[in-house]
Amino acid sequence: MPMEPVAPMSLEEARAAEDADSRQLLSAATVEEALAVLVEIARRLTRAHQATVVMTPTVGKTRGASVTSLSRAYEVWGGYAVPSGDEPGRTARERRSARAEPRGRISASLPSDAGVLYLFDREVGDFSREDELALHRLARLAGLALESARLLREEQQARSEAEAAEQRAAFLADASRLLASSSLDPKATLDTLARLCVPILADWCFVDIVDESGTVQRTSVAHAEPDLDALARRVRDFPPGPEGSAHPTTRVARQAESLLVDNIDDAWLRAVSVSEAHFETMREVGFHGILAVPLLARGRSLGALTFLAVRPSRHYNPTDLETAQDLARRAALLVDNARLYREARRSVRLRDEFLAVASHELKTPLTPLQLRLQWLRRQTRKDRPFLPTPLVVSQLDVVQRQVDKLSGLVHGLLDVSRLSSGRLTLHREDVNLEAVAREVKDRLAVPASQAGSPVSLSLQGDLRGHWDRVRLEQVLTNLLANALKYGAGQPVHIALRGEADRVLLRVEDSGIGIAREYQSHIFERFGRAVSERHYGGLGLGLYITRQIVEAHGGEIGVRSEPDMGSRFEVSLPRHESTA
Ligand code: ADP
Repeated sequence: MPMEPVAPMSLEEARAAEDADSRQLLSAATVEEALAVLVEIARRLTRAHQATVVMTPTVGKTRGASVTSLSRAYEVWGGYAVPSGDEPGRTARERRSARAEPRGRISASLPSDAGVLYLFDREVGDFSREDELALHRLARLAGLALESARLLREEQQARSEAEAAEQRAAFLADASRLLASSSLDPKATLDTLARLCVPILADWCFVDIVDESGTVQRTSVAHAEPDLDALARRVRDFPPGPEGSAHPTTRVARQAESLLVDNIDDAWLRAVSVSEAHFETMREVGFHGILAVPLLARGRSLGALTFLAVRPSRHYNPTDLETAQDLARRAALLVDNARLYREARRSVRLRDEFLAVASHELKTPLTPLQLRLQWLRRQTRKDRPFLPTPLVVSQLDVVQRQVDKLSGLVHGLLDVSRLSSGRLTLHREDVNLEAVAREVKDRLAVPASQAGSPVSLSLQGDLRGHWDRVRLEQVLTNLLANALKYGAGQPVHIALRGEADRVLLRVEDSGIGIAREYQSHIFERFGRAVSERHYGGLGLGLYITRQIVEAHGGEIGVRSEPDMGSRFEVSLPRHESTA
């Protein structure tokens, strides 16, 4: 390609061109743009084939930037490697210039050691002294341009940080308003909260809640990309980690400790994953940062609020942690209030149920009692001064049984009111639990045979301790009576085992069992897991039992599966604790 002859410039033209160059250089908005303009001007001014700026590496960066500008001829020929050049139709001059032999190099340092500007291969002749001077002027100007571009970038950054802070404050205000709008359906509110958090605070946001049975459940999942719904469903339905696992959100929810990790890699995902599927799901989400905080209320963790960073520019820092903790505190309050409200309603419902059951139970013995008394009165009115004794006795037996039943119920009620106000006093004495067990088993022989459940007893080790005998009779009676009542006519087994400092008592049946969600309630006052239509009972026996066991410093628990039976286990320390 033939070189265009360069028309000589007048002085004024040259000044105007220099002014235009300076303006273009100084108006560059970014360092990259300033460098691109710089190499272009430098190449044009010196008529070099190639201009390059190599920037000095700065602290924290291993490589400096490098920008190059090539003359068209250089671009076309691809540098020094030129075809052999004997094509027909080319003049000797064209062939010579097409060979583009390097004709020297000239360089100028940018101010403050920022980098070096190199020029290679002048189009005509060698670089001149003027080229060198022009280059040094240009380098100084470039120094100014780079500095101003840098300042501009800092200012832009500061502005965008201020905007982000403003956005965040507005978001927090929105979130607080949302969380304060005392909703009794926390699920809906938490869903909205999660949605509010993306994309301002996160690319993904989850809420995990520890439910009343201690299971962690992911209730809300929000994400920034609309086409990720299928993945989001997988993320939501993924089962929580088992107790003690490293599963990140399960851990935060259970152990009430915040988690902040940036630069997450596969090794980290491996370490916290609970299964291959979990690892794959986390990888697919593709997060490099996680911020998870517990939902704390009244010193208890009710769950976790989790933010994930997917886009590379998002990084979590301690300020984000504080923001998240603040949000989590408000969200926890909401969850806690809703829970308290639910519990209060449950107590009211239980009390109402109890009143219905109690009046029914108290009334049941009254009917036969009244009938017998009316009969006796009728007999005495018929001028029959002497009724046959066996007849009277049989009637009185019925009367006595009903009165016993009533007095048992009334005693139970009194016991409960006494226990509830903390007035249970134990009368400790030396007791052999074996004797108590045999006695209770004998006493319940009739109900056992009516239920069709044979009762077996196994004994092991030393079963003596310092306990309240009457109260322990009550414990065993309640447990055995329940096993017969709910045991579906299957055998019932009582096992006593003496250990070093305590005695274990176990009552096991193979009856209707208790669903998991009721298991923690049956030891409460009026707590029942069955419908009052099918089974009578005040729901007080296990409450009283637990109070007695705990007054002895012991513990009671249940293991049960619906239709598989129940196993109640009591652990009783042999002696009163001196602590
Ligand atoms: P209740 O008078 O209703 O039997 P309890 O306090 O003794 O009251 O028991 C509370 C509830 O626990 C019962 O209503 C029943 O639902 C459940 N329950 C207790 N023992 C058993 C058992 N052995 N098998 C199945 N359910 C039981």
